[in-house]
Amino acid sequence: MAARVPFIAGNWKMNPTSVEEAISLAKAIADGKGSSKAQVAICTPHPFLAACKPHLDKGGIDLGAQACYFEQKGAYTGATSTSMIRSVGAKHVIVGHSERRTVFHQTDEMVNQIIHKVLADNMLPILCVGETKEEYESGLNTQICAIQLAKGLKGVSKEDAKKVTIAYEPVWAIGTGLVCDASVAQDVHKFIRGWLANMYDQETADTIRIQYGGSVTPDSVDELMSKPDIDGCLVGGASLDPAKFTRIMNFK
Ligand code: PEP
Repeated sequence: MAARVPFIAGNWKMNPTSVEEAISLAKAIADGKGSSKAQVAICTPHPFLAACKPHLDKGGIDLGAQACYFEQKGAYTGATSTSMIRSVGAKHVIVGHSERRTVFHQTDEMVNQIIHKVLADNMLPILCVGETKEEYESGLNTQICAIQLAKGLKGVSKEDAKKVTIAYEPVWAIGTGLVCDASVAQDVHKFIRGWLANMYDQETADTIRIQYGGSVTPDSVDELMSKPDIDGCLVGGASLDPAKFTRIMNFK
């Protein structure tokens, strides 16, 4: 089995507040990549994609978007298509982040339509799955992941599935400072890989990278990344702090 290249992605969410600040953050993050062994991507808000691209390029960091719509063009006020974000140099798109699911009412069916569109336009989706606090407390974490994976990846071929990164993001850990215990996260990642092997085959499951997301910091990254089925992290808050994100990119 070929080793999976670790993949660390930053999700700036609706930050920072101006293009000048976005450029200076992109520059600081690019400077910090150093000799990181990970593939790194930064997912900026749409208005900052083009401006950040040359600065991230200098550090060998990929550009990603945080969301997109599944239609190509037309009367969809406020929406952004894959071709638009691809035309300004973005390679990755986060799909089905819990904030899109809850704040913007994105359904599993929409998530699936977006996954198909991103893949059809030769971009690389990061599909987020994960349970709420109540679901976690009821022991439903793996069941919820299985449902979201089945719906999100419906109709996706084995070859296309290999281009998808799965981000396991327990909703109760996002932006709360509560990191999922690394061994619990490993168990869920192992479950997800088993699910992928059942759905596709072992070779496909061994190829797909599974990130952990939820309050990752310099203090938690090393233990998380030491687990065999944790292939990277999706980082929100700490990706806005160049010192913290530099340490995360250069995990030990
Ligand atoms: C996220 O936005 O995907 C995320 C995991 O955020 P945070 O790291 O702030 O919990």
